[in-house]
Amino acid sequence: MKKNNKIIISLLSLFLLFNFTTIQANDFKANEDYYKQLCSNPETAQKNNSTCLSFNAYLNEKIESANAQINQYKGEMNKHKDDINKQMALAEEFQAKIDGFASEISALQGEIATLEASIKKIEAEIKAREEEIKKKDEIIIERMRKTQSDMRFGYEIDFLFKSIDFATLISSMTIVSDIMNFEAIQIQEINALIEEQKSSQQTLESNKTTIANNIKTIEINKQSTEVLKAEVDIVIANYQKMMADLAALQSQAFADAASVRRQVAANKKALEALPPSNGFTRPLAGGYLSAGVWAYPPNKLGLAAIHLGHDYAAPMGTSIRAAANGIIIASSDNCGSTGALGNWCGSSGGLAGGGNQVHMITSVNGKLYGIMYLHMQSGSPIAKGSVVTAGQTIGRVGSSGNSTGPHVHVEVFYLGTQSISDYVASWNGSLHHNVGMSLSRRCQDNGNTAPCRLNPGVVF
Ligand SMILES: [Zn+2]
Repeated sequence: MKKNNKIIISLLSLFLLFNFTTIQANDFKANEDYYKQLCSNPETAQKNNSTCLSFNAYLNEKIESANAQINQYKGEMNKHKDDINKQMALAEEFQAKIDGFASEISALQGEIATLEASIKKIEAEIKAREEEIKKKDEIIIERMRKTQSDMRFGYEIDFLFKSIDFATLISSMTIVSDIMNFEAIQIQEINALIEEQKSSQQTLESNKTTIANNIKTIEINKQSTEVLKAEVDIVIANYQKMMADLAALQSQAFADAASVRRQVAANKKALEALPPSNGFTRPLAGGYLSAGVWAYPPNKLGLAAIHLGHDYAAPMGTSIRAAANGIIIASSDNCGSTGALGNWCGSSGGLAGGGNQVHMITSVNGKLYGIMYLHMQSGSPIAKGSVVTAGQTIGRVGSSGNSTGPHVHVEVFYLGTQSISDYVASWNGSLHHNVGMSLSRRCQDNGNTAPCRLNPGVVF
């Protein structure tokens, strides 16, 4: 029975201890700002000395787990090494963490500055108090000297001169029967000052500990930031290299011009029967513009890749419409409906990364235009050589090739005032109509000198 009791008591106290520390840690975690303030303010820190000591211990534990976290970051990025999409998402997450670390660092530095100012203030107070004590000391000693000469208690006063222990001093003072009340009050005041000195010293120590903890946390945050930055940099470098490779591939994208010329010749009658168009039909009946020219809005990593067209987002399978009467000069349908960032499908008969795609030539109000439609649903692109009329379905919205969601990417080229047949007769098969895959030949910059790249917003 006795033994059982002992066990129960031990278990109970263990339980209480465990519960107490858990509750306290949870409380610190939930109210970190409150405790930081409590323990960095000299007055409140002093009043809550033991709580603040525990809080410091809690902060130290946090620092240790941060170190473990750093290693985890490295591992996570490695797991997604081969998938640029996942890497990008992870890198964005890491970037958000980096931003969080930066603001935490600046908050901690602010706290350090406040604590340092408070330390200076306390040190000045300590110094002032020391002088006050010294002054009071001298007054008492002076009066003692006088008492000595009046009362001839030489041996007592000798002791007093050497004394730094004021408790002993007080007890010694009782021996001096004729001591005046004045001295007693002075000594009490000195004792009070000494107590204040002790308290100030403790606050100083507590502030210094908090500063040391803050410096440790800043160091950890900086280390984490370095690790994360290195991972994000790798992703950005991968992405940029990928985009450069893609642009290089796309500048070499040519269709089989000879076969198109044959098809155009074969379709000569149908082409000549097409009435002239006097306006443009938007690529989609509904949908919305999800990205415009000439750059994508920067992502969370601050990457803003060049964007040569307009993106119209709409559900998978939505009809894509011919802009005006004309002919399809290139069509490619070799990709799955859903691609991904870094998926370069489309290069067989089309632009790499463009997925399933259609390129057409049309004449509107006597001016010739080339228009490309990218990222179509598998099986939907209309065949090369087809003669089409404005608004006719030429494919369906997909997310094939270098795409992260269902949309159609549309680029527009101004090609001059020739007829469709004449243009195709001398066309070299360039899918970007010899203006390149850069911003160097924009109509808005060269006074509409054909061939040039037109902002799709001008016609749609
Ligand atoms: Zn686009």
